[in-house]
Amino acid sequence: MIESRCGIICGECGFREQMGCSGCTQIQKPFWGDGCPVKSCCEEKSHAHCGQCASFPCPLLNQFAYDEKQGDGGKRIEQCGKWKEAEV
Ligand code: SF4
Ligand code: SF4
Repeated sequence: MIESRCGIICGECGFREQMGCSGCTQIQKPFWGDGCPVKSCCEEKSHAHCGQCASFPCPLLNQFAYDEKQGDGGKRIEQCGKWKEAEV
């Protein structure tokens, strides 16, 4: 089961309980801002997660995944790939 649009595993996120976040797929907007460009883009394209997108992994997703402070060194992109593989 997917947990987010971008590949983050919400179940492993320390902010989930702390911020009372229901998880990426359940929320309208994230607790950390007015909106997440990755979530919005993915949902506008009616994808369950970015791995389903023809442009995957696009520059925006790469920027998120490899951001020095907020990124995870590409882990979330790998996760989207795994979700995609599990679907075929
Ligand atoms: S960064 Fe965006 S797409 Fe990823 S889990 Fe958070 S709200 Fe969802
Ligand atoms: S891979 Fe990029 S273009 Fe495709 S849905 Fe995700 S954010 Fe949007």
